[in-house]
Amino acid sequence: MFTEENGMNVYCTCGRIVNLDRYEMQLKISLGKELQCTVCRNKRISQEIDFMNDLYNGLIDEESY
Ligand SMILES: [Zn+2]
Repeated sequence: MFTEENGMNVYCTCGRIVNLDRYEMQLKISLGKELQCTVCRNKRISQEIDFMNDLYNGLIDEESY
């Protein structure tokens, strides 16, 4: 199996392998960010956009959050 010297493979919660270089990984850990693959990250971002749209459209009562 090919391993990049400065890269690390971590498993995303969905089971996909995420390849990060060491610096990027340590940066994310130090920021308390989850190590996510691009698919999960895009999904999360689109969910956040949907949430903001719902807020904007008054579908969600902001004070209940
Ligand atoms: Zn994922």
